[in-house]
Amino acid sequence: MTNYHEQAAALGGHPEHVSDHAQLFDKAWEQTSENFLIKGLKAGQDIEDLLLQMPGFKEAFSHELNTLECSDGRVRSGAKMGVAGEGILLNDEEWKVLVDALRGKDMLITGHESCGAAAMAHPGPDSDAYGYATAKKLAIETGNRYQEVHHEDFISPIHNERTLVVEGTGKFDVANWPEFPPQYISSAAALGLGDAYLKKAIAALTGIAMGDHGFSDKRFNAENPFYIIVSAKDEEQKEHLSALAEEAVKDLGVKVQVTGFVAPLENKQ
Ligand SMILES: [Zn+2]
Repeated sequence: MTNYHEQAAALGGHPEHVSDHAQLFDKAWEQTSENFLIKGLKAGQDIEDLLLQMPGFKEAFSHELNTLECSDGRVRSGAKMGVAGEGILLNDEEWKVLVDALRGKDMLITGHESCGAAAMAHPGPDSDAYGYATAKKLAIETGNRYQEVHHEDFISPIHNERTLVVEGTGKFDVANWPEFPPQYISSAAALGLGDAYLKKAIAALTGIAMGDHGFSDKRFNAENPFYIIVSAKDEEQKEHLSALAEEAVKDLGVKVQVTGFVAPLENKQ
């Protein structure tokens, strides 16, 4: 994948100045359709077989994750764990769980421009301000660093996500693995947030992909589904999170496909 600036340059300038915004989506769809994993899944191949053929799979689990930011695939400021809107959709009890999971971890916590989760929680022109405030609050309460991420720092100018990674290991640096297709990340399970929240997050993120801000259900269909990919620490977690994901998106039918794998972790329990 090319980055924001390369994509913009390829289309003749800053994307805000590109008259045909649809061109960006066409090009990104074309590019991501060539991805090895997307092609293999489309052909009905087994995901674990495919991942093992992709260089960098094991290495993607080899280091500590040092950043907590939105699940949004356009945002990547480090080795990333994702929580939609940095926790803006959590209730008080869930917020406490997140704070406990992140306290004193020496992480970077970011808030970002044009946050879909912030817009869900606080519709209107001030939604980003609420998003920044939430991320900043999380950084203060957990003793971590805070940073704002603006459009010019996005790794893609548009929502080009083809997948949602439901991350249960807390060790998968998928965002920095170039072979993997563009992705939303929910690390809710790895952070100990409960099933009720994860189900809500899966529905919300898949909803953004299916809506006008993403490739939308004009492109996602039975032949080219949006993939929810469970990254699990063991078979039991894989079964559990897969069932939860199926339940969360059952209304979308064949446009969404749930699949999953057991991570190649060094020290399995
Ligand atoms: Zn966001």
